[in-house]
Amino acid sequence: MNHEPTIFDKIISREIPAEIVYEDDLCLAFNDINPQAPVHVLVIPKKPIVSLAEISEQDAPLMGHLLVVLSKIAKQIGLESGYRTVLNTGPDGGQEVNHLHFHLLGKRALKWPPG
Ligand code: 5GP
Repeated sequence: MNHEPTIFDKIISREIPAEIVYEDDLCLAFNDINPQAPVHVLVIPKKPIVSLAEISEQDAPLMGHLLVVLSKIAKQIGLESGYRTVLNTGPDGGQEVNHLHFHLLGKRALKWPPG
C-alpha cells in the first residue's frame, strides 16, 4: 500500500533539505535531524512503503539492498567497533514517520534492551 506523502518524500524530492550521505536509484540516506548517537543516519527506500508491516515478497530485493547499503555506509563512516540498525514499525514500535526507514546508530556504546 502506498502512503500519504511524508516529510521523507519531501527530502527525496529535495523540497526540504537534508544532509545526504548516500543516494542511488533505489534509496536515500541522510543524517537524522535529532541524532540519538554521534552517528545517526536514516536509510529510506525511494519507493513509498509505509512500514515493514506493508512490504510484500516483491520488496525482498529492495529490502536486501537497503541492508547492503547500511553495511557500506557503516564501513565508509568507520564504525569498526559496531553499530545498531533499527527499524521501528507502527505506533508500539515507536514509528513516527510513515515511510519505512532504517536507523543506523554508531560511535557510542548502545545499551540493550532498548526502552
Ligand atoms: P521513527 O521514530 O519514525 O522511527 O524515526 C523518525 C526519525 O526521523 C526520527 O529519528 C526523527 O528525528 C527523524 N526526522 C523527522 N523529521 C525529520 C526531518 O525533517 N529531517 C531529518 N533529517 N530527520 C527527520
